Parts: sequence; C-alpha cells; structure tokens
Amino acid sequence: MLIREQVALAPFTTLGVGGPARYFAETHSEAEVIEAVEFARSRQLPLFVLGGGSNLVIADKGFPGVVLKVAISGSSSCTPPRKNPLFIAGAGVNWDTLVAQTVDANCAGLECLSGIPGTVGGTPVQNVGAYGQEVSQTIREVRVLDLRSLQIEILSNAECSFTYRSSIFNTTERDRYIILQVSFALHQDGKPSVRYADLQKFFASSTGDPTLAEVRAAVCEIRYRKAMLIVPGDEDARSAGSFFKNPIVPQSFFEELSARVESRGLQLPSYPAGDGFRKLPAAWLVEQAGFSRGYSKGAAGISRRHALAIVNRGGATAADIIALKDEIQAGVLNEFGIELQPEPVLVGF
Ligand SMILES: Cc1cc2nc3c(=O)[nH]c(=O)nc-3n(C[C@H](O)[C@H](O)[C@H](O)COP(=O)(O)OP(=O)(O)OC[C@H]3O[C@@H](n4cnc5c(N)ncnc54)[C@H](O)[C@@H]3O)c2cc1C
Repeated sequence: MLIREQVALAPFTTLGVGGPARYFAETHSEAEVIEAVEFARSRQLPLFVLGGGSNLVIADKGFPGVVLKVAISGSSSCTPPRKNPLFIAGAGVNWDTLVAQTVDANCAGLECLSGIPGTVGGTPVQNVGAYGQEVSQTIREVRVLDLRSLQIEILSNAECSFTYRSSIFNTTERDRYIILQVSFALHQDGKPSVRYADLQKFFASSTGDPTLAEVRAAVCEIRYRKAMLIVPGDEDARSAGSFFKNPIVPQSFFEELSARVESRGLQLPSYPAGDGFRKLPAAWLVEQAGFSRGYSKGAAGISRRHALAIVNRGGATAADIIALKDEIQAGVLNEFGIELQPEPVLVGF
C-alpha cells in the first residue's frame, strides 16, 4: 500500500476546503486498513477515517496525522433471492451506486435515500436519512475494525444505537471503529415509501402507485432543485449538505417559543419527535433569523436553493466557512434562544 505525504485534502471533499494530510493512505482491503492503522500507531500519529468527504469541513492547516481513506469496494450482492434479501457492500462503495442497484433489483428500503453523496461506510455514522427513510430502518449488520483490540467485529443494528443523525459511531464510541462493510435487509418487490410531503406533492397528479424507480427519480429531481444533488460545476451544490441539524426541543420550550413567534404574526413549524419533544426545521430558523438563500460572506455563502447549505462560492477557505457558520449560529441563538448544532464533522480544528 502506498502511503503518500502532504496530500491536499480539499479535492477529497464536496465542500472543497481544507489543507493537507501529513500522511494519506488509500485502503482497498481490510488488510490495508489494518496496515494503515499500524503505520499511524508506530509513529504515534492521530488517525482520521475518510469516506467520500461529503460531510466534512477540514481545517485550512489540514490534518497532522494519517488520513485513512476507506476504498473497500466489494461488489454488493443480493443473496439469496428471498422476501428480505440482504445487500452487502464494502464501506468504500459509492452510496448512490448501491441504492441504484437495490432499486434495479426491485427491492424497497433505500429508494428515498437516492442521490446522497458519500460512501456506504459513511451512512451508519450519522444514520443518514432523507424523505422519510433512515439507514437504521434497513441496516442488518455493520462489520468493523475495533481500534481498541484491532479485531474485526460484527455489530448488530441494535448495537449501533441509531437515533436521528446519530449512532455510537459519532457519539459514545466516536473514533473507536472503522466501518468495513454494511449489510442491508430490504423488501423484495416492496412498495416505495411516499410519506414525505415533498414526495406526495410530486406524485399528487399521478394515477396509481409510483414504482421504486419512479420514487428514486423523483427524489433525485427534488434534490436537484434544492442543489442537494452533486452536479459538477453547480456552485450551489459545493457544500457539505445541510449544515445544521434540525433541533429537537422539549414541548414546553416549543409552546413558549410558538407563542413568542405568533405575536410577530408567524407560525412556528414543527414535527413530532417522540414523547414530550418537537423537532423544528433548522432551515426555517435560519431564514427567519435573517439569513436568506443566496446570502454571502466573502467566498462563503448560503446556497441560492437551500437555506441550510453553506456553500463554497469558489476559493473559500475553511475559516470563511466557519465564520459564516458562527454568524448563523449567533443569529439563531439571539433570535430564538436555540443553539444550532452543525451536522458536518469538523476535522483538524
Ligand atoms: C449535497 C449533499 C447532500 C446531502 N444530503 C444528505 C441527506 O439527505 N441526508 C443525510 O443524512 N446526509 C446528507 N449529506 C451528508 C453526507 O452525504 C452523508 O452524511 C454521508 O453519509 C457521508 O458519507 P461520506 O462517506 O462522505 O463520509 P465523510 O464525509 O468522509 O465522513 C463523515 C464522517 O464519517 C466518518 N466515516 C466515513 N467513513 C467511515 C468508515 N468507513 N468508518 C468509520 N467512520 C467513517 C468520518 O470519519 C467522519 O467522521 C449530504 C451531503 C451533501 C454534500
């Protein structure tokens, strides 16, 4: 395995910012992953695991240790054909390639997650979700390298403790596991999920139930309109996706804020989030705090098509992106008393 030095990281991210990695190892097998880990340990260097770079902001000074890019391909397969076929994919497989494969095989469960950039291995980390589906609904097992024991283990769905944009991989066991492979149990000939309002609107005038392929196409079209689909050259898509999580607040706080907002002639949108809690759309909070789509701060800005996407308009630095993030967080805190949490992982800060 080739381990390169001083490799620029910006081109490995969708946001396109960040300095170099001291060392960079692209790993194509489990053995190479272990080799790269041992390389870092032998030099007492920190390790960062890189997937598709679609949920990252890397600091301008880069990363002072070993960046281990997981590129384990392992073709996904559906074996054996049965009611709940298993799709098993190497962590380095492109996520949307796997989704396309499941839809082509007429298997339901991932169709609403079409068009999300990144790798298969990145999806369990923040329990990727969109348009009414989350990977936690279909993940059967996650094959990992435990960095404590250097042993390969299989984690069940329950052991991953998935909740909204969260799992053990980005909370309690952060930095402990390298994900090597993920298996998904899908529904052969199952019906597509059309629960999300945007999707229902898309199909409002159609007759009959949409197919899995039609739902996949609709999701990609809706994502394209919001610049949530990576299209080369589309400046509004040069982002890390939604920059802030939708805050989940206690019912009592929601009621108090609703009343405050109503006195200004506005209605606070919200969704159920379990007993005694409501989820608030971060995009609404950002826009109402005065940060409209198209807002710019130097070379960083807010996408013209999505209030939650911070974009690199060309030549932005990580410092520009973080300055805009800070400004938005301060604005929302001041206006609504809510501290928005960033969704992307900040590396090297
Ligand atoms: C345009 C756009 C739209 C997006 N839309 C959505 C959306 O609808 N829903 C959503 O949930 N997300 C969305 N995202 C965010 C992002 O695509 C997902 O979080 C994706 O799963 C990240 O995967 P990745 O391989 O790119 O991970 P990276 O960005 O490379 O890494 C993210 C985190 O995961 C860790 N990681 C990655 N691979 C592994 C591995 N093999 N083992 C252990 N840790 C690993 C990294 O260390 C890091 O902490 C969007 C992003 C963009 C740019």
